[in-house]
Amino acid sequence: MTNQQLIDKLNSQKALDQAQWVQLFATFTEADRHYAAALAREIADSVFGKRIYIRGLVEFSNYCKQDCYYCGIRCSNRNAQRYRLTKEDILSCCEEGAALGFRTFVLQSGEDKAYSNAALCDIVSTLKSRHPDCAVTLSLGELSEAEYRALFAAGADRYLLRHETADAAHYAHLHPANMRLESRLKCLQELKAIGFQTGCGMMIGSPYQTPACLAEDMRFLRDFEPHMVGVGPFLPHKDTPFKKEPAGSFETTLLVLSLVRIMLPQTLLPATTALGTVHPYGREEGILAGANVVMPNLSPTAVRRKYMLYDNKICTGDESAQCVNCLQQRLQKIGYEIVQARGDYGQSSEPAK
Ligand code: SAH
Repeated sequence: MTNQQLIDKLNSQKALDQAQWVQLFATFTEADRHYAAALAREIADSVFGKRIYIRGLVEFSNYCKQDCYYCGIRCSNRNAQRYRLTKEDILSCCEEGAALGFRTFVLQSGEDKAYSNAALCDIVSTLKSRHPDCAVTLSLGELSEAEYRALFAAGADRYLLRHETADAAHYAHLHPANMRLESRLKCLQELKAIGFQTGCGMMIGSPYQTPACLAEDMRFLRDFEPHMVGVGPFLPHKDTPFKKEPAGSFETTLLVLSLVRIMLPQTLLPATTALGTVHPYGREEGILAGANVVMPNLSPTAVRRKYMLYDNKICTGDESAQCVNCLQQRLQKIGYEIVQARGDYGQSSEPAK
């Protein structure tokens, strides 16, 4: 089959076999990528219309006990300037975000044990009581099932935990031996079973990634049926073991976004900051390839430059309001609008065609 026939097959059957995925990733052309993007955009428009959901990202701590080889805030990076926000700091970022129209807050951090589970639950429940119409998404890494349960009981609605790669050997190339793909997947299963809207995802072009790894990722997404999928290019960070590795391909990232949209029409799919970093119109291209979410930064400007997962991250100098205005204008130019809505999975009000 040709690549475009494979894309049509994916659209009708919502699955491909391993060899077909590998063929697509190993041999796709610009024409194939545009073909997938047009189909993906048509699907996204039919589910969400011209409406883009925004999530306000609060990066509240860059302390991390883990040592992922790709990540700029890994514990071994002695050059990282570490910071922690207080509960009041976090609440005031969200206060500002609510006034700017955000109805989802994403609290993200390194794996920082300085915040007890009880303290995190308190932050979540206070946030929910002050903004009962808003959703709270957490992205705190791997926790115990009991901790996840407590956070859900405290009112958290969603959880983002990228699986990073669904190939165990590849996972071992990206992480120290104490981190296991199995544990990551166990966390994801638990999160979904608890009732979180659950997001997984992977970096594109991370070192040692092959077309077969991406094929595994697609098969995993198909089986897991996540509510959200975070996909962005790998970008090197100067203080990590991968500092000399090339950045992931912009084009492959766009193709993956389109294939995810075609396979999982309802999924919430952000055009990520990493995509906006690798190309000046990365986020717009991401939307045009099938994404339907953007995640502007609500962190205080004083700490933004310190949450450097990779080099040259965008939007680290701007005020939150500037970020929203900038994105609004960018999206308007391509015919999309930001909406003030929680944007839950399966709740799109766009009538089916
Ligand atoms: N500690 C939390 C969340 C913070 S990291 C967790 O483990 O989930 C958020 C995401 O940033 C990671 O899942 C990873 O996919 C991405 N990331 C980290 N370093 C990166 C890099 N160098 N290039 C691109 N993405 C990166």
